Amino acid sequence: MSETRVRFAPSPTGYLHVGGLRTALYNFLFARKNNGKFILRIEDTDRNRYVEGAVENLIESLKWCGLDYDEGPDKAGEFGPYMQSQRLDIYKKYADDLIAKEHAYFCFCTPERLQTLKEEQAAQKLPQAKYDKHCLSLSKNEIEDKLANGIPHVVRLNVILNQKIIFDDIIRKRVEFESNNVDDQVLIKSDGYPTYHMANVVDDHMMQISHVIRGEEWLSSTPKHVLLYDFFGWEKPIFAHLPLLLNPDRSKLSKRQGDVAVEDYRAKGFLKEALVNFVALLGWNAGNDKEFYYMNELIESFSLERVNNSGAVFDFEKLNWINAEHLRKKSNEELLTLLKFEIENSELRIENYSDSYLLQIIDAMKERVNFVKEYLTKSPYFFEAPTEYEEASRLKNWKPETPEQLVVLKNKFTQLNNPSKEDYETVLKQAASELNISAGKLIHPLRLALSGISTGPGMYDLLFILGKGEVINRINTALNTLR
Ligand code: GLU
Repeated sequence: MSETRVRFAPSPTGYLHVGGLRTALYNFLFARKNNGKFILRIEDTDRNRYVEGAVENLIESLKWCGLDYDEGPDKAGEFGPYMQSQRLDIYKKYADDLIAKEHAYFCFCTPERLQTLKEEQAAQKLPQAKYDKHCLSLSKNEIEDKLANGIPHVVRLNVILNQKIIFDDIIRKRVEFESNNVDDQVLIKSDGYPTYHMANVVDDHMMQISHVIRGEEWLSSTPKHVLLYDFFGWEKPIFAHLPLLLNPDRSKLSKRQGDVAVEDYRAKGFLKEALVNFVALLGWNAGNDKEFYYMNELIESFSLERVNNSGAVFDFEKLNWINAEHLRKKSNEELLTLLKFEIENSELRIENYSDSYLLQIIDAMKERVNFVKEYLTKSPYFFEAPTEYEEASRLKNWKPETPEQLVVLKNKFTQLNNPSKEDYETVLKQAASELNISAGKLIHPLRLALSGISTGPGMYDLLFILGKGEVINRINTALNTLR
Protein backbone atom coordinates (compact mmCIF):
# COMPACT_ATOMS: atom_id res chain seq x y z
CA MET A 1 0.00 0.00 0.00
CA SER A 2 1.65 3.17 -1.07
CA GLU A 3 -0.86 5.92 -0.40
CA THR A 4 -1.59 6.97 3.16
CA ARG A 5 -5.31 6.51 3.68
CA VAL A 6 -6.78 6.90 7.14
CA ARG A 7 -10.31 7.08 8.43
CA PHE A 8 -12.39 8.36 11.27
CA ALA A 9 -15.13 5.80 11.78
CA PRO A 10 -17.59 7.02 14.40
CA SER A 11 -20.82 5.37 15.36
CA PRO A 12 -23.46 8.08 15.28
CA THR A 13 -24.58 8.01 18.87
CA GLY A 14 -25.64 11.63 19.14
CA TYR A 15 -22.71 13.99 19.30
CA LEU A 16 -18.97 14.23 18.71
CA HIS A 17 -17.16 13.32 21.92
CA VAL A 18 -13.89 15.16 22.58
CA GLY A 19 -12.18 11.76 22.50
CA GLY A 20 -13.67 11.28 19.04
CA LEU A 21 -12.44 14.71 18.07
CA ARG A 22 -8.95 13.72 19.14
CA THR A 23 -9.10 10.52 17.06
CA ALA A 24 -10.43 12.44 14.06
CA LEU A 25 -7.80 15.15 14.51
CA TYR A 26 -4.86 12.74 14.71
CA ASN A 27 -6.11 10.94 11.60
CA PHE A 28 -6.52 14.26 9.83
CA LEU A 29 -3.07 15.53 10.85
CA PHE A 30 -1.47 12.26 9.85
CA ALA A 31 -3.17 12.31 6.44
CA ARG A 32 -2.29 15.92 5.74
CA LYS A 33 1.29 15.52 6.92
CA ASN A 34 1.77 12.50 4.64
CA ASN A 35 -0.13 13.89 1.64
CA GLY A 36 -2.68 11.14 2.14
CA LYS A 37 -6.43 10.92 2.30
CA PHE A 38 -8.67 11.37 5.32
CA ILE A 39 -11.94 9.49 5.13
CA LEU A 40 -15.10 9.77 7.19
CA ARG A 41 -16.96 6.50 7.50
CA ILE A 42 -20.14 6.23 9.50
CA GLU A 43 -20.43 2.96 11.42
CA ASP A 44 -24.16 2.80 11.84
CA THR A 45 -24.85 -0.91 11.94
CA ASP A 46 -26.14 -0.97 15.50
CA ARG A 47 -29.78 -0.17 14.91
CA ASN A 48 -30.53 -0.05 18.65
CA ARG A 49 -28.21 2.87 19.09
CA TYR A 50 -29.47 4.86 16.13
CA VAL A 51 -30.05 8.51 17.01
CA GLU A 52 -31.93 10.83 14.68
CA GLY A 53 -29.78 13.68 13.38
CA ALA A 54 -26.59 12.26 14.88
CA VAL A 55 -24.72 12.04 11.58
CA GLU A 56 -25.52 15.61 10.64
CA ASN A 57 -24.46 16.75 14.06
CA LEU A 58 -21.19 14.88 13.82
CA ILE A 59 -20.40 16.27 10.39
CA GLU A 60 -21.25 19.76 11.57
CA SER A 61 -18.87 19.46 14.54
CA LEU A 62 -16.04 18.06 12.40
CA LYS A 63 -16.45 20.83 9.87
CA TRP A 64 -16.60 23.47 12.56
CA CYS A 65 -13.23 22.24 13.81
CA GLY A 66 -11.80 22.46 10.31
CA LEU A 67 -11.38 18.72 9.85
CA ASP A 68 -12.22 18.47 6.17
CA TYR A 69 -12.35 14.94 4.89
CA ASP A 70 -11.57 13.86 1.37
CA GLU A 71 -14.18 11.12 1.17
CA GLY A 72 -17.30 10.67 3.25
CA PRO A 73 -21.07 10.28 3.26
CA ASP A 74 -21.57 13.71 1.73
CA LYS A 75 -18.42 13.66 -0.38
CA ALA A 76 -18.37 11.04 -3.06
CA GLY A 77 -15.25 8.94 -3.46
CA GLU A 78 -14.07 5.87 -5.23
CA PHE A 79 -14.75 3.60 -2.27
CA GLY A 80 -18.27 4.58 -1.21
CA PRO A 81 -20.86 4.38 0.08
CA TYR A 82 -19.36 5.61 3.34
CA MET A 83 -22.32 4.68 5.52
CA GLN A 84 -22.13 1.09 6.65
CA SER A 85 -25.90 0.67 6.61
CA GLN A 86 -25.68 1.10 2.84
CA ARG A 87 -23.11 -1.69 2.48
CA LEU A 88 -24.97 -4.65 3.97
CA ASP A 89 -24.68 -6.84 0.86
CA ILE A 90 -20.91 -6.51 0.96
CA TYR A 91 -20.66 -7.82 4.52
CA LYS A 92 -23.03 -10.68 3.76
CA LYS A 93 -20.92 -11.78 0.83
CA TYR A 94 -17.73 -11.77 2.90
CA ALA A 95 -19.42 -13.60 5.76
CA ASP A 96 -20.48 -16.30 3.30
CA ASP A 97 -16.86 -16.57 2.15
CA LEU A 98 -15.69 -17.09 5.70
CA ILE A 99 -18.37 -19.72 6.35
CA ALA A 100 -17.35 -21.57 3.19
CA LYS A 101 -13.75 -21.62 4.42
CA GLU A 102 -14.87 -22.70 7.93
CA HIS A 103 -13.43 -19.57 9.46
CA ALA A 104 -16.93 -18.69 10.56
CA TYR A 105 -20.04 -20.70 11.41
CA PHE A 106 -23.75 -20.40 12.00
CA CYS A 107 -24.86 -20.35 15.59
CA PHE A 108 -28.49 -21.03 16.50
CA CYS A 109 -28.15 -20.86 20.27
CA THR A 110 -31.05 -19.16 22.00
CA PRO A 111 -30.53 -16.13 24.21
CA GLU A 112 -31.58 -18.38 27.14
CA ARG A 113 -28.83 -20.92 26.44
CA LEU A 114 -26.26 -18.13 26.11
CA GLN A 115 -27.41 -16.65 29.39
CA THR A 116 -27.13 -19.98 31.20
CA LEU A 117 -23.65 -20.46 29.73
CA LYS A 118 -22.65 -17.04 30.96
CA GLU A 119 -23.89 -17.81 34.48
CA GLU A 120 -22.08 -21.14 34.55
CA GLN A 121 -18.87 -19.50 33.47
CA ALA A 122 -19.29 -16.78 36.06
CA ALA A 123 -19.79 -19.47 38.74
CA GLN A 124 -16.55 -21.10 37.58
CA LYS A 125 -14.91 -17.70 37.96
CA LEU A 126 -13.66 -17.66 34.37
CA PRO A 127 -12.07 -14.30 33.53
CA GLN A 128 -14.58 -13.59 30.78
CA ALA A 129 -17.67 -15.17 29.28
CA LYS A 130 -16.93 -17.03 26.06
CA TYR A 131 -19.07 -18.92 23.62
CA ASP A 132 -18.43 -22.66 23.91
CA LYS A 133 -18.42 -23.44 20.15
CA HIS A 134 -21.53 -25.57 20.66
CA CYS A 135 -22.89 -24.94 17.15
CA LEU A 136 -19.57 -25.70 15.52
CA SER A 137 -20.40 -29.39 15.85
CA LEU A 138 -23.68 -29.17 13.93
CA SER A 139 -23.77 -31.26 10.79
CA LYS A 140 -24.29 -29.73 7.37
CA ASN A 141 -27.79 -31.18 7.30
CA GLU A 142 -28.70 -29.87 10.71
CA ILE A 143 -27.57 -26.42 9.65
CA GLU A 144 -29.51 -26.52 6.41
CA ASP A 145 -32.60 -27.69 8.23
CA LYS A 146 -32.45 -24.93 10.77
CA LEU A 147 -31.83 -22.31 8.11
CA ALA A 148 -34.71 -23.65 6.02
CA ASN A 149 -36.96 -23.48 9.07
CA GLY A 150 -36.05 -19.89 9.69
CA ILE A 151 -34.49 -20.53 13.11
CA PRO A 152 -32.90 -17.27 14.28
CA HIS A 153 -29.15 -17.39 14.00
CA VAL A 154 -25.96 -15.42 14.01
CA VAL A 155 -22.61 -15.98 12.29
CA ARG A 156 -19.59 -16.41 14.55
CA LEU A 157 -15.87 -16.14 14.04
CA ASN A 158 -14.15 -19.49 14.44
CA VAL A 159 -11.19 -18.61 16.64
CA ILE A 160 -8.49 -21.29 16.59
CA LEU A 161 -7.42 -22.17 20.12
CA ASN A 162 -3.91 -22.29 21.60
CA GLN A 163 -2.41 -19.64 19.35
CA LYS A 164 -0.69 -16.38 19.98
CA ILE A 165 -2.12 -13.43 18.11
CA ILE A 166 0.61 -10.87 17.65
CA PHE A 167 0.56 -7.50 15.99
CA ASP A 168 2.59 -4.32 16.00
CA ASP A 169 1.19 -1.01 17.06
CA ILE A 170 3.03 2.27 16.49
CA ILE A 171 2.14 3.46 19.98
CA ARG A 172 1.83 0.25 22.01
CA LYS A 173 4.71 -1.51 20.18
CA ARG A 174 4.39 -5.32 20.06
CA VAL A 175 1.02 -6.53 21.34
CA GLU A 176 0.27 -10.18 22.10
CA PHE A 177 -3.00 -11.92 22.88
CA GLU A 178 -3.73 -15.59 23.58
CA SER A 179 -6.36 -16.86 21.18
CA ASN A 180 -7.91 -18.81 24.08
CA ASN A 181 -8.94 -15.47 25.51
CA VAL A 182 -10.64 -14.35 22.32
CA ASP A 183 -14.33 -15.07 22.02
CA ASP A 184 -15.97 -16.53 18.91
CA GLN A 185 -17.21 -13.08 18.11
CA VAL A 186 -20.55 -12.62 16.41
CA LEU A 187 -19.88 -11.27 12.91
CA ILE A 188 -23.43 -11.13 11.57
CA LYS A 189 -26.27 -10.54 14.00
CA SER A 190 -29.68 -12.21 13.91
CA ASP A 191 -31.12 -9.08 12.27
CA GLY A 192 -28.72 -9.62 9.37
CA TYR A 193 -26.62 -6.59 10.26
CA PRO A 194 -22.88 -7.05 10.68
CA THR A 195 -21.24 -6.34 14.01
CA TYR A 196 -18.66 -3.61 14.33
CA HIS A 197 -15.78 -6.09 13.94
CA MET A 198 -16.94 -7.55 10.68
CA ALA A 199 -17.96 -4.31 9.01
CA ASN A 200 -14.90 -2.48 10.26
CA VAL A 201 -12.39 -4.98 8.87
CA VAL A 202 -14.16 -5.44 5.55
CA ASP A 203 -14.40 -1.70 5.06
CA ASP A 204 -10.87 -0.91 6.14
CA HIS A 205 -9.70 -3.43 3.57
CA MET A 206 -12.03 -2.33 0.79
CA MET A 207 -11.36 1.34 1.40
CA GLN A 208 -7.63 0.62 1.30
CA ILE A 209 -6.98 2.04 4.73
CA SER A 210 -3.24 2.06 5.38
CA HIS A 211 -3.27 3.04 9.07
CA VAL A 212 -5.93 2.40 11.69
CA ILE A 213 -5.62 5.18 14.25
CA ARG A 214 -8.21 4.84 17.01
CA GLY A 215 -8.75 4.94 20.76
CA GLU A 216 -7.21 2.44 23.13
CA GLU A 217 -10.64 1.07 24.02
CA TRP A 218 -10.48 -0.78 20.67
CA LEU A 219 -7.17 -2.49 21.41
CA SER A 220 -8.88 -5.59 22.82
CA SER A 221 -10.91 -5.89 19.59
CA THR A 222 -7.80 -5.85 17.44
CA PRO A 223 -6.91 -9.57 17.84
CA LYS A 224 -10.33 -10.40 16.37
CA HIS A 225 -9.60 -8.07 13.50
CA VAL A 226 -6.15 -9.56 13.00
CA LEU A 227 -7.74 -13.01 12.76
CA LEU A 228 -10.22 -11.73 10.22
CA TYR A 229 -7.47 -10.20 8.06
CA ASP A 230 -5.59 -13.47 8.19
CA PHE A 231 -8.67 -15.56 7.40
CA PHE A 232 -9.48 -13.36 4.43
CA GLY A 233 -5.84 -13.40 3.36
CA TRP A 234 -5.69 -9.62 3.41
CA GLU A 235 -2.79 -7.37 4.26
CA LYS A 236 -3.28 -5.76 7.66
CA PRO A 237 -3.23 -2.01 8.12
CA ILE A 238 -0.73 -0.49 10.52
CA PHE A 239 -2.34 0.00 13.93
CA ALA A 240 -1.96 2.94 16.31
CA HIS A 241 -4.06 2.92 19.49
CA LEU A 242 -4.35 6.30 21.19
CA PRO A 243 -4.16 6.63 24.97
CA LEU A 244 -7.33 7.00 27.03
CA LEU A 245 -8.56 10.44 28.03
CA LEU A 246 -8.77 10.88 31.79
CA ASN A 247 -10.44 13.24 34.24
CA PRO A 248 -8.05 15.13 36.52
CA ASP A 249 -8.60 12.39 39.15
CA ARG A 250 -7.39 9.90 36.51
CA SER A 251 -10.76 8.23 36.12
CA LYS A 252 -11.96 7.74 32.56
CA LEU A 253 -13.18 11.00 31.04
CA SER A 254 -16.86 11.15 31.71
CA LYS A 255 -19.80 13.43 31.37
CA ARG A 256 -20.18 13.56 35.13
CA GLN A 257 -17.01 15.60 35.55
CA GLY A 258 -17.57 18.07 32.75
CA ASP A 259 -18.57 18.51 29.15
CA VAL A 260 -17.56 15.86 26.68
CA ALA A 261 -19.35 16.98 23.52
CA VAL A 262 -17.64 19.28 21.05
CA GLU A 263 -20.91 21.18 20.65
CA ASP A 264 -20.89 21.99 24.39
CA TYR A 265 -17.49 23.63 24.11
CA ARG A 266 -18.64 25.48 21.05
CA ALA A 267 -21.74 26.71 22.86
CA LYS A 268 -19.59 27.83 25.79
CA GLY A 269 -17.71 30.07 23.41
CA PHE A 270 -14.43 28.23 23.01
CA LEU A 271 -12.66 29.05 19.78
CA LYS A 272 -12.31 26.15 17.39
CA GLU A 273 -8.59 26.87 17.02
CA ALA A 274 -8.22 26.59 20.79
CA LEU A 275 -10.20 23.38 21.10
CA VAL A 276 -8.20 21.79 18.28
CA ASN A 277 -4.90 22.99 19.77
CA PHE A 278 -5.85 21.68 23.21
CA VAL A 279 -7.11 18.32 21.96
CA ALA A 280 -3.95 17.82 19.87
CA LEU A 281 -1.93 17.95 23.08
CA LEU A 282 -3.97 15.19 24.74
CA GLY A 283 -1.39 12.48 24.35
CA TRP A 284 0.98 14.09 21.88
CA ASN A 285 3.80 16.61 22.03
CA ALA A 286 6.45 17.56 19.52
CA GLY A 287 9.28 16.74 21.91
CA ASN A 288 9.58 20.31 23.17
CA ASP A 289 7.42 22.41 25.46
CA LYS A 290 5.58 24.31 22.74
CA GLU A 291 1.91 24.47 23.61
CA PHE A 292 0.46 27.08 21.29
CA TYR A 293 -0.27 25.75 17.82
CA TYR A 294 -2.23 26.71 14.76
CA MET A 295 -3.55 23.89 12.58
CA ASN A 296 -0.82 24.28 9.95
CA GLU A 297 1.85 23.99 12.65
CA LEU A 298 0.17 20.87 14.02
CA ILE A 299 0.21 19.31 10.56
CA GLU A 300 3.87 20.12 10.23
CA SER A 301 4.88 18.77 13.65
CA PHE A 302 2.59 15.79 14.11
CA SER A 303 3.85 12.23 14.18
CA LEU A 304 2.33 9.06 15.59
CA GLU A 305 5.70 8.10 17.03
CA ARG A 306 5.38 10.98 19.47
CA VAL A 307 2.00 9.91 20.83
CA ASN A 308 2.33 8.68 24.43
CA ASN A 309 0.99 5.38 25.58
CA SER A 310 -0.15 6.54 29.02
CA GLY A 311 -3.53 8.16 29.68
CA ALA A 312 -3.90 11.85 28.87
CA VAL A 313 -5.49 14.07 31.51
CA PHE A 314 -8.12 16.51 30.31
CA ASP A 315 -7.08 19.71 32.04
CA PHE A 316 -9.86 22.30 31.83
CA GLU A 317 -7.62 25.06 33.15
CA LYS A 318 -5.26 24.50 30.29
CA LEU A 319 -8.10 24.65 27.79
CA ASN A 320 -9.12 28.03 29.21
CA TRP A 321 -5.56 29.24 28.98
CA ILE A 322 -5.14 28.09 25.39
CA ASN A 323 -8.42 29.73 24.48
CA ALA A 324 -7.32 33.04 25.95
CA GLU A 325 -4.01 32.81 24.10
CA HIS A 326 -5.69 32.20 20.77
CA LEU A 327 -8.11 35.02 21.39
CA ARG A 328 -5.31 37.47 22.17
CA LYS A 329 -3.42 36.56 19.03
CA LYS A 330 -6.38 37.49 16.84
CA SER A 331 -6.38 40.72 14.88
CA ASN A 332 -9.02 43.32 15.71
CA GLU A 333 -10.68 42.63 12.38
CA GLU A 334 -11.02 38.93 13.18
CA LEU A 335 -12.35 39.80 16.62
CA LEU A 336 -14.86 42.14 15.02
CA THR A 337 -16.30 39.28 12.97
CA LEU A 338 -16.53 37.09 16.07
CA LEU A 339 -18.05 39.84 18.18
CA LYS A 340 -20.66 40.65 15.56
CA PHE A 341 -21.59 36.99 15.40
CA GLU A 342 -21.94 36.97 19.18
CA ILE A 343 -24.14 40.07 19.13
CA GLU A 344 -26.32 38.60 16.40
CA ASN A 345 -26.87 35.58 18.61
CA SER A 346 -27.79 37.66 21.63
CA GLU A 347 -30.76 39.81 22.53
CA LEU A 348 -28.95 42.88 21.28
CA ARG A 349 -29.60 44.45 17.89
CA ILE A 350 -26.52 44.49 15.72
CA GLU A 351 -27.67 47.56 13.77
CA ASN A 352 -27.25 49.65 16.92
CA TYR A 353 -23.48 49.30 16.81
CA SER A 354 -21.21 50.49 14.04
CA ASP A 355 -18.05 48.59 13.15
CA SER A 356 -15.92 51.50 14.28
CA TYR A 357 -17.69 51.58 17.63
CA LEU A 358 -17.19 47.83 18.11
CA LEU A 359 -13.54 48.12 17.12
CA GLN A 360 -13.01 50.68 19.86
CA ILE A 361 -14.56 48.30 22.39
CA ILE A 362 -12.33 45.52 21.13
CA ASP A 363 -9.27 47.69 21.56
CA ALA A 364 -10.25 48.65 25.09
CA MET A 365 -11.28 45.18 26.26
CA LYS A 366 -8.97 42.87 24.32
CA GLU A 367 -6.60 42.24 27.20
CA ARG A 368 -9.43 41.75 29.67
CA VAL A 369 -11.45 38.98 28.02
CA ASN A 370 -10.81 35.26 27.64
CA PHE A 371 -13.90 34.52 25.57
CA VAL A 372 -15.59 36.54 22.84
CA LYS A 373 -18.84 36.50 24.79
CA GLU A 374 -17.06 38.27 27.65
CA TYR A 375 -17.16 41.45 25.59
CA LEU A 376 -20.86 41.35 26.34
CA THR A 377 -20.76 39.98 29.87
CA LYS A 378 -17.77 41.94 31.18
CA SER A 379 -18.63 45.22 29.50
CA PRO A 380 -22.39 45.17 28.94
CA TYR A 381 -22.42 48.95 29.43
CA PHE A 382 -20.94 49.43 25.96
CA PHE A 383 -24.10 47.93 24.54
CA GLU A 384 -26.79 49.20 26.87
CA ALA A 385 -26.88 51.94 29.50
CA PRO A 386 -26.81 50.56 33.04
CA THR A 387 -30.15 50.23 34.75
CA GLU A 388 -28.67 49.09 38.04
CA TYR A 389 -25.64 50.18 40.00
CA GLU A 390 -23.32 47.88 41.88
CA GLU A 391 -24.21 48.19 45.56
CA ALA A 392 -20.70 47.87 46.96
CA SER A 393 -19.34 50.55 44.70
CA ARG A 394 -22.30 52.81 45.42
CA LEU A 395 -21.73 52.55 49.17
CA LYS A 396 -18.05 53.19 48.77
CA ASN A 397 -17.98 55.86 46.07
CA TRP A 398 -21.30 57.68 46.00
CA LYS A 399 -21.08 60.16 48.88
CA PRO A 400 -23.60 62.89 49.84
CA GLU A 401 -21.37 65.46 48.12
CA THR A 402 -20.95 63.38 44.95
CA PRO A 403 -24.00 64.66 42.99
CA GLU A 404 -22.98 68.31 43.13
CA GLN A 405 -19.41 67.44 42.22
CA LEU A 406 -20.57 65.41 39.22
CA VAL A 407 -22.76 68.30 38.13
CA VAL A 408 -19.66 70.52 37.98
CA LEU A 409 -17.94 67.89 35.91
CA LYS A 410 -20.93 67.35 33.67
CA ASN A 411 -21.17 71.06 32.92
CA LYS A 412 -17.56 71.07 31.84
CA PHE A 413 -18.15 68.06 29.59
CA THR A 414 -21.15 69.81 28.06
CA GLN A 415 -18.99 72.67 26.93
CA LEU A 416 -16.57 70.42 25.10
CA ASN A 417 -16.77 70.24 21.35
CA ASN A 418 -16.03 66.86 19.85
CA PRO A 419 -13.77 65.95 22.77
CA SER A 420 -10.72 63.71 22.50
CA LYS A 421 -9.60 61.36 25.26
CA GLU A 422 -7.12 64.01 26.36
CA ASP A 423 -9.85 66.67 26.51
CA TYR A 424 -11.83 64.51 28.92
CA GLU A 425 -8.74 64.04 31.05
CA THR A 426 -7.87 67.75 31.12
CA VAL A 427 -11.39 68.75 32.04
CA LEU A 428 -11.76 66.11 34.73
CA LYS A 429 -8.53 67.19 36.36
CA GLN A 430 -9.58 70.83 36.18
CA ALA A 431 -12.88 70.01 37.86
CA ALA A 432 -11.13 68.07 40.60
CA SER A 433 -8.73 70.89 41.26
CA GLU A 434 -11.50 73.52 41.32
CA LEU A 435 -13.44 71.34 43.75
CA ASN A 436 -10.28 70.80 45.72
CA ILE A 437 -10.63 67.02 45.65
CA SER A 438 -8.54 64.24 44.18
CA ALA A 439 -9.36 63.03 40.65
CA GLY A 440 -10.31 59.66 42.16
CA LYS A 441 -13.23 61.26 44.00
CA LEU A 442 -14.71 62.02 40.58
CA ILE A 443 -13.49 58.99 38.67
CA HIS A 444 -15.07 56.32 40.87
CA PRO A 445 -18.60 57.69 40.96
CA LEU A 446 -18.31 58.68 37.30
CA ARG A 447 -17.41 55.10 36.38
CA LEU A 448 -20.34 53.86 38.43
CA ALA A 449 -22.66 56.27 36.63
CA LEU A 450 -21.42 55.32 33.19
CA SER A 451 -21.04 51.57 33.57
CA GLY A 452 -22.97 50.53 36.69
CA ILE A 453 -19.92 48.57 37.85
CA SER A 454 -16.50 49.34 39.23
CA THR A 455 -14.15 47.62 36.79
CA GLY A 456 -13.38 48.16 33.15
CA PRO A 457 -11.01 49.88 30.79
CA GLY A 458 -9.32 53.21 31.55
CA MET A 459 -11.68 56.04 32.47
CA TYR A 460 -10.81 58.22 29.49
CA ASP A 461 -11.18 55.31 27.07
CA LEU A 462 -14.61 54.67 28.51
CA LEU A 463 -15.63 58.32 28.13
CA PHE A 464 -14.29 58.56 24.63
CA ILE A 465 -15.90 55.34 23.39
CA LEU A 466 -19.32 56.17 24.86
CA GLY A 467 -19.18 59.68 23.44
CA LYS A 468 -20.25 62.98 24.94
CA GLY A 469 -24.02 62.69 24.43
CA GLU A 470 -24.22 59.26 26.01
CA VAL A 471 -21.88 60.28 28.84
CA ILE A 472 -24.10 63.20 29.76
CA ASN A 473 -27.27 61.13 29.55
CA ARG A 474 -25.83 58.48 31.81
CA ILE A 475 -24.62 61.03 34.35
CA ASN A 476 -28.13 62.53 34.39
CA THR A 477 -29.72 59.11 34.88
CA ALA A 478 -27.36 58.30 37.73
CA LEU A 479 -28.03 61.69 39.37
CA ASN A 480 -31.74 60.95 39.24
CA THR A 481 -31.37 57.38 40.46
CA LEU A 482 -28.61 57.51 43.05
CA ARG A 483 -29.64 60.09 45.57
N1 GLU B 1 -17.18 2.68 15.24
C1 GLU B 1 -16.06 2.67 16.13
C2 GLU B 1 -16.25 3.88 17.07
O1 GLU B 1 -17.35 4.25 17.25
C3 GLU B 1 -14.79 2.75 15.35
C4 GLU B 1 -13.58 2.23 16.03
C5 GLU B 1 -12.47 2.13 15.03
O2 GLU B 1 -11.96 3.19 14.64
O3 GLU B 1 -12.16 1.04 14.59
O4 GLU B 1 -15.36 4.46 17.58
